[in-house]
Amino acid sequence: MADGPFLYRFTRDLRLEDHAGLAAAGARGAVLPLLAIDRELEARLARSPRRAAFFCSAVRALDAELRERGSALIVRRGPLGATLRSAAHATGATGVAWSAAYDGPSMHGDQRLQSQLEEDGLTALLVHDAPAIPPEETAAVRTIAGQGYRAFAPYYDVWRELSPASHEHPLLVRFAESDLRSEPLPSPNEFGGSDRSIDAGSAIAKKTLDSFLRESAIAYLVAARVPSDDRTSHLSAHLSFGTLSARAAVRATRERLDDPFLLAEERVSLRAFLRAIAHRDFFLQLSWFHPQTHDRPLQEKMDDFAFARTHPALDAWRGGRTGYPLVDAAIRQLHETGWMHPHARAVAASFLCFDLNVDWRVGRDEWDAWLIEDDPALATGNWQWIAGVGADMAQYPRIYNPERQRRRYDPSGEYVRRWVRELERTPMAQWSDGTRSAQLALELFPSDPYPAPVVDHERAAREFLERYRAFSA
Ligand SMILES: Cc1cc2nc3c(=O)[nH]c(=O)nc-3n(C[C@H](O)[C@H](O)[C@H](O)COP(=O)(O)OP(=O)(O)OC[C@H]3O[C@@H](n4cnc5c(N)ncnc54)[C@H](O)[C@@H]3O)c2cc1C
Repeated sequence: MADGPFLYRFTRDLRLEDHAGLAAAGARGAVLPLLAIDRELEARLARSPRRAAFFCSAVRALDAELRERGSALIVRRGPLGATLRSAAHATGATGVAWSAAYDGPSMHGDQRLQSQLEEDGLTALLVHDAPAIPPEETAAVRTIAGQGYRAFAPYYDVWRELSPASHEHPLLVRFAESDLRSEPLPSPNEFGGSDRSIDAGSAIAKKTLDSFLRESAIAYLVAARVPSDDRTSHLSAHLSFGTLSARAAVRATRERLDDPFLLAEERVSLRAFLRAIAHRDFFLQLSWFHPQTHDRPLQEKMDDFAFARTHPALDAWRGGRTGYPLVDAAIRQLHETGWMHPHARAVAASFLCFDLNVDWRVGRDEWDAWLIEDDPALATGNWQWIAGVGADMAQYPRIYNPERQRRRYDPSGEYVRRWVRELERTPMAQWSDGTRSAQLALELFPSDPYPAPVVDHERAAREFLERYRAFSA
């Protein structure tokens, strides 16, 4: 172990427990915990006020945890390289560790930072912390080195056989003493948001996981499809900001699966939940090995497919006023909560890509302004998947019929009524079915009219498929 302290730069890993990065830094010296706020982070937080509030709350909780251990977070603002170099020189730190990013632009940032620090004679350690199983571990099972998996099924076959590493001993990490002055902890106002209160931090994340496993997991299989059912885990923001490690979620789920008295229904649901976490790891490794996918389709041949950047109804989609109740409920849920039900995401995204023929990047960037989660690699992987240009290798894209989906997964209209106020008291028989005219829609709701469908789904889907077929031929 070297003599000087080692800096640990927190990024999307705002906790102390089961922390691969902290463990790696701790193995090299007493740790100085640091949060560097640069333009890039400011911009990410400024895009979504709820995200900024969640982040600031998680940072406060992390600082409190550090103080319980006799340390405290050192906050610094300014360009990343200069901030870390000056912190290292001021404290005599021999190096800096941080956990890897998985989206192309941030990965380039990581590499740039690594070179800057190394040029200055510092050790720069990049650690995999976000996935339960690091990309190289699953990739090592393949014969083609360094390429990872482009399809989920073979990836999952490998993933399910591997066990996440354990870094569960934060008490083994020794924190260094330092008189390096900290700037104030970040507050949401700094990122242009209001001082909204959202409670975050590792204690809340752990509680969310525990209560999901104890009370809701039994219903997960159904809840993941039925948008009115709130019993998915709601862990996405916690995993995104690392207030919970994916490894801990996998371990706790597998432990529960070891219970021989588990009901069959719960066993199936828990397996589906593990598969969801594996999906997260899958998209992280996809972006890790193919960072160009941030801007370009994984399927290179789809690069030239003519998705449009706009559509006369694009603003209606953005505002949850397409006239398709399930799509509109989904968008409004996002606007009101910073989260959208997983199946509703698929239907609303499909509507943008296929009914409006609008580019997946437009949708991804639009939702980025509302989501609390800050996971560009997951957003990209999922949007490409839905648009039929990414890891889903089906011959034709899966076009969701928004009305059929509503009838099947929200048959009582509970989800739609919860989010689309105009339809709250309207008998379902009068809801638009994708064929009613604008005139009729206005007559039904004179004071606060719910819009008529902005496109005819059947026709739009048919036209899209014709274009797709012609392009593929
Ligand atoms: C168009 C589209 C965009 C999406 N954008 C994002 C995004 O920006 N950030 C994000 O975290 N998820 C995204 N997802 C995936 C998924 O919808 C969310 O992770 C999920 O809705 C979060 O709710 P939950 O935590 O209750 O999930 P649960 O169903 O309880 O799943 C548990 C965890 O597994 C992970 N997970 C589940 N499904 C997926 C998936 N398909 N891909 C990656 N990880 C998954 C998430 O971390 C999630 O928190 C997107 C899906 C679609 C179809």
